[in-house]
Amino acid sequence: MTKASSNAVDNVAEGATPPAVSVREVDPEGPLIDVMNGKARWELPVLDHGFVALVDVMPRLIPEGKTADSAIVQAARVSYGEGTKKVNEDRGLVRYLLRHRHTTPFEMVEFKFHVAMPIFVARQWIRHRTANVNEYSARYSIVPDRFYRPSVESVRKQSTTNRQGGEESMEVGTAEEFIGLLEDSEKLYARYLELTEQGVARELARAALPVSLYTEWYWKCDLHNLFHFLSLRMDSHAQQEIRVYADAIYELIKPIVPVSAEAFEQYRLNGMFLTSLEVDALREGRPIATDNKREQGEWEAKRDRLGLK
Ligand SMILES: Cc1cc2nc3c(=O)[nH]c(=O)nc-3n(C[C@H](O)[C@H](O)[C@H](O)COP(=O)(O)OP(=O)(O)OC[C@H]3O[C@@H](n4cnc5c(N)ncnc54)[C@H](O)[C@@H]3O)c2cc1C
Repeated sequence: MTKASSNAVDNVAEGATPPAVSVREVDPEGPLIDVMNGKARWELPVLDHGFVALVDVMPRLIPEGKTADSAIVQAARVSYGEGTKKVNEDRGLVRYLLRHRHTTPFEMVEFKFHVAMPIFVARQWIRHRTANVNEYSARYSIVPDRFYRPSVESVRKQSTTNRQGGEESMEVGTAEEFIGLLEDSEKLYARYLELTEQGVARELARAALPVSLYTEWYWKCDLHNLFHFLSLRMDSHAQQEIRVYADAIYELIKPIVPVSAEAFEQYRLNGMFLTSLEVDALREGRPIATDNKREQGEWEAKRDRLGLK
């Protein structure tokens, strides 16, 4: 026992009865409702064997007649003072906070998901460092044989303009050939099982399995960081197989934080960022002052959206 802890025990032993501390339990001002309507999960299927399930929310209980947006307002009012409490003013406050990137109040709302997705999707997803993750252990357990296999129609052709993309559908013959290749890689699963039964460690045997294999995790993220994730992964530049997960997540959270979601759509998801070169070109009605072809293309795309063609 260290000297310090020994002294602590002695102090208690010396008999001074510690003052009784009682927790002050405060009743809510009115009835509370569960934002998930008392359900254990809200689940949506994604891809061929995947899913996104919302399993918990903070705040889970909210005053009747409100939404979980109220936790954002509550936190913001610590810094902005009480102000008025009318619902439409709460809405204005949430929208102001999001527009002006006053982000911390949005961190007061958290969502916990249970997700099943192919490993190649998980690899992109895990790059978002501001969430808490606990993944299925393929060292500890045999992995279930679930593999992602796109339909023939959803096999995409490599884009010639975007090295990271593929939008157009592939001709059927080649698409079928590719699906055949995926099937071949799935056959490795039987050998994986056999060899683990013969005693090869699961942690090593898994190295023979393809990244189309499904994994699962619990993923918890606050609303500020979730909006960041969604703005990147619901975007058309994100790979389609992760975009469908982002879309499902958004569908699940939208009814829980409708005010924030509306502001997110208007100010971020469907909004537009202009560089100073673009602002100058717009104001002076001339081409953008850069020789960079990619930047010129991006400005053209924005002009299109602004209806300036
Ligand atoms: C379309 C697309 C293509 C991509 N292509 C590639 C690719 O080719 N190769 C590749 O490696 N990645 C690629 N990525 C991943 C990308 O570079 C990011 O790693 C990923 O989107 C996570 O973004 P983030 O770091 O902003 O998110 P998070 O990790 O969730 O972080 C959120 C924010 O927190 C802050 N933050 C978090 N951690 C730190 C830190 N340690 N230091 C400082 N600030 C921090 C930053 O402001 C960050 O924006 C791609 C992503 C997309 C959407």
